[in-house]
Amino acid sequence: MNHIALLRRAYRALGETTPIFEDCGQLCGQACCIDIPDEETGGDGKGMLLLPGEAELLSYTGYAKLSRIELKGAFARPVWFMTCRGQCPRRLRSMACRLFPLIPYVAPDDRQKDIPPFSIVGDPRGVALCPLAQTGYRHVEPAFYMTVERAVSILWESKAMRSYFISLSALLDDYFRFL
Ligand code: SF4
Ligand code: SF4
Repeated sequence: MNHIALLRRAYRALGETTPIFEDCGQLCGQACCIDIPDEETGGDGKGMLLLPGEAELLSYTGYAKLSRIELKGAFARPVWFMTCRGQCPRRLRSMACRLFPLIPYVAPDDRQKDIPPFSIVGDPRGVALCPLAQTGYRHVEPAFYMTVERAVSILWESKAMRSYFISLSALLDDYFRFL
């Protein structure tokens, strides 16, 4: 499976669809970007996990700082992680940025299935910073949910992508416990 081609198809499926019709960055001063820069820029080093193939795709963009991190208990192997300087060419941002504040989630009982069903849910990691998350995602447009679902359905063609989101769902369980 060519993950780069798959990612490009999913990026295209998302297009310019955003969580709300207005620019939500105006609501919060782009909290999900401002919060990201790493120690070089004085931030706290939060960042985005990258999907299979995405590190290769983004390594040519020049703005992403990439590393491998271990997330034991959820991911069996180290995963690619990226930080940025709080600004990027919009068409080159990561899938995590494009989906936020939503995320596909695989329920625990389905995680052993080869092709598990997924639901598009509010990303529990957003509650600390995103006003859309803090207001229970009720302002997120249904069109954004549908577009995210379409893009994720494309990614679901790959076993490695499905495994990635199964592992991510296990990681998110720790966040859901505190909501
Ligand atoms: S997704 Fe949330 S944190 Fe990011 S710009 Fe929109 S409202 Fe702000
Ligand atoms: S990559 Fe772009 S969209 Fe994603 S956090 Fe950084 S500046 Fe924001």
